[in-house]
Amino acid sequence: GADMVHLDVMDGVFVPNLSFGPPVIERIRPLTSMTLDVHLMMQYPDRLIPAFAKAGADIINIHAECASPLGDTLEEIRKLGKKAALTLKPATPAEAAFPWLDKLAMVLVMTVEPGFGGQKFMADMLPKIAALRSECRRRGLDTAIEVDGGINTETGPLCIAAGVDWLVAGSSLFHAMDPAAVVNVLHSK
Ligand code: ZN
Repeated sequence: GADMVHLDVMDGVFVPNLSFGPPVIERIRPLTSMTLDVHLMMQYPDRLIPAFAKAGADIINIHAECASPLGDTLEEIRKLGKKAALTLKPATPAEAAFPWLDKLAMVLVMTVEPGFGGQKFMADMLPKIAALRSECRRRGLDTAIEVDGGINTETGPLCIAAGVDWLVAGSSLFHAMDPAAVVNVLHSK
């Protein structure tokens, strides 16, 4: 019952953990018609945007705190026909996304420090979500807001109340006896 697949790419530099890259995404692509939402926790995402696009990403998320030029990198994602998204680490304010909002399909608010699964949801991110929602509304933009980190059947509804469109759930789904039931609860909120 999930709506899309969120793929956490970690480069061992931007975050102290390493996951996978374009070849793994290329192997996932033919297995599903669901949207592949690729979250690049990378210091230099611009170096591999064409590779992730070619591998079959639908949405490409880059971090506002990365070392690549944000404007050019977001533009390249769009030029390749993909949806561009910007991700904010917990310490990065909502305002960091404001200059790019009209170019973004989505803003991803991290509700844990990126790098490892299984962390506890940071409830103090809820005002950031509300600030982004209010700025999008003020400017008449339909930019989606997504959250990632510590999302479960308790924290998900708090995010939805704050204005979130997409919930990324990892541990709460993969460790559940009945993952579909978790998705159902989140859908019903
Ligand atoms: Zn993620």
